[in-house]
Amino acid sequence: MSDKPHPAERSRELHQRALRVMPGGVNSNVRLLAPPVFFQSARGCRLVDVDGNHYIDYLLGQGPNFLGHAPPDVLDAVDDASRRGMVYGAQHSLEVEAAERMLAVIGWAEQVRFGVSGSESVQAALRLARAVTGRTRFIRFEGHYHGWFDNVLVRVEDGAAAPASEGQLVSHLDDSLLLPWNDLTAVEEMLATNDDIAAVIMEPVMLNAGSIEPVAGYLEGVRRACDRHGVLLIFDEVISGFRVAPGGAADRYGVTPDLATYGKAMAGGWPVSALVGPRSMMERFGTGAVNHSGTFNASVMACAATVATLRRLVDDPPHERISARGRRLMDGLVQLAADHSLDLHVQGLPMAFHAGFGDGPVLDYRSLRRLDAARYNEFTRVLIDHGVWVAGRGIWYLSAAHEEADIDETLERVAAAMKATVS
Ligand code: PMP
Repeated sequence: MSDKPHPAERSRELHQRALRVMPGGVNSNVRLLAPPVFFQSARGCRLVDVDGNHYIDYLLGQGPNFLGHAPPDVLDAVDDASRRGMVYGAQHSLEVEAAERMLAVIGWAEQVRFGVSGSESVQAALRLARAVTGRTRFIRFEGHYHGWFDNVLVRVEDGAAAPASEGQLVSHLDDSLLLPWNDLTAVEEMLATNDDIAAVIMEPVMLNAGSIEPVAGYLEGVRRACDRHGVLLIFDEVISGFRVAPGGAADRYGVTPDLATYGKAMAGGWPVSALVGPRSMMERFGTGAVNHSGTFNASVMACAATVATLRRLVDDPPHERISARGRRLMDGLVQLAADHSLDLHVQGLPMAFHAGFGDGPVLDYRSLRRLDAARYNEFTRVLIDHGVWVAGRGIWYLSAAHEEADIDETLERVAAAMKATVS
């Protein structure tokens, strides 16, 4: 595959058909940025496209396939459960089991509400925070993504939040205050000078833009500042949850939020999300005082997939194995880049690291923007041509299905891609 252009006839044909019936040929705007390759199957860490080309996958569906594609235990659980009905519009035993398992893994939370997408669980969190505090605004951070709804979708321009979409209600952005992340003083000052702030929402490890860990003392400091001002701390763990540690970033960094949202890795690829928190706050949903609804919330499939995934994560935690392999891949990329005189900067957590061209370290959104994103995006096209499927924005996700041999093969393919790039 690496020496000659691989076949793309069927993908091209499907792309033309897709363009006629779906705007941009896609169903999520994020995918407008990816090459128009159509897939026919995936298993473990391998993807096969409709022209028969094979790829080692480091996009993993943008994160959900933490156990690898099509994990047999999750598939069996979903298949078995769904044959007895998929959606009841009423309660069922699997949702209780999913809730109990989820809370047991997370540790600090007492109740959970399931949703379908991360975007909606974030909205539920913000609404609940307003109800609990009686305040309206929230603090959020440069480079953090919290879904595509009007009040959270932003483009950062010179440190200010601008709408990122036509048709977006710009006034909804007035509800949030945008700050640079990893800067405790900025949060403390903002909280000290505004008394209408309901919540601080953040990705506790910044994974949507770069792979940037909180600096020492930052999460603890924000936690203290929130407590001092009666403000709720919301961790958006839609990517970090179950991935960076069994109990997500709260577990990894030892800081407990008031509310947290999850999605992606919690259900082996099935679309499901969750909001968790203490009973004292969550019970507002239970009394009906705060509305959170959804036809497909806690569907049989979502609960079956969640139970099977969490069972695996508890019985056979893959985190250390994934970390070791991710670290080896990171080191290998750095070495190969040096061999080819490429200024590739690789950093972050080994289960979700970031690569880009330019100088590190990347400590925040501003330093991330100094990397040459266009050049890296072009390089990812070459990687894809060499059978390594990666996101153009720099994130590399690893799964429990990436074996040592897959890392070796990836490095061989990357070496060929780099050779093709520099020659
Ligand atoms: N929060 C974070 C931190 C995310 O990474 C994402 C999705 N990438 C979302 C929220 C939105 O989740 P979804 O795409 O499932 O709506």
